[in-house]
Amino acid sequence: MNKAVFLDRDGTINEDVGDFCSIEQLVFIPGAIEALKILQETFQLFIITNQSGVGKNIFTEEELIRFNRYFDIFLKNEGITIKKIYYCPHTKEQHCLCRKPSPYFIRQAEKDYKIDLNSSYVIGDHPHDIEMAKTVGAEAIYILTGHGRKHRKELSIEPNFVCSNLYEAAIWIMESQSSNKKRGLKEGKNG
Ligand SMILES: [Mg+2]
Ligand SMILES: [Zn+2]
Repeated sequence: MNKAVFLDRDGTINEDVGDFCSIEQLVFIPGAIEALKILQETFQLFIITNQSGVGKNIFTEEELIRFNRYFDIFLKNEGITIKKIYYCPHTKEQHCLCRKPSPYFIRQAEKDYKIDLNSSYVIGDHPHDIEMAKTVGAEAIYILTGHGRKHRKELSIEPNFVCSNLYEAAIWIMESQSSNKKRGLKEGKNG
């Protein structure tokens, strides 16, 4: 079984500038690239993103696919592998199956990539990221970049950790990994 980190895109990895799909507007949040490098040492990386700009006719699905491809290649050039970018192109009003907080895509990754969701993490700047994590038994990290500060009061479920940005989230995850390991060793010795 594989462990994974499921990341939101806008406001988590790159600045959230509203519904956008042009590479000229793509700005990575400071420390985000470094964080992905740290996380991929231990985890498979996935992006799950709501892109209702398609449903609202702000950009087309083809433009979104092109943008995501650029995003993926940019990260590849940094040595980072994103296993898959899942996107929901629908608006809330379309009542689709895949829009976060729906666990549709995270369940699909679980199946397609044999992911153990109980030892996986979700990181995002919106309460729906936390809700999705809790639905499937993954750990949830809420970050205060993007819309994080604005939506913090709307959290109906307590995240496992709240921090300033993706870099801090990565450090916290790696530290909890090593303390889990230490605990495991100790228990092994005593038992
Ligand atoms: Mg976001
Ligand atoms: Zn959808």
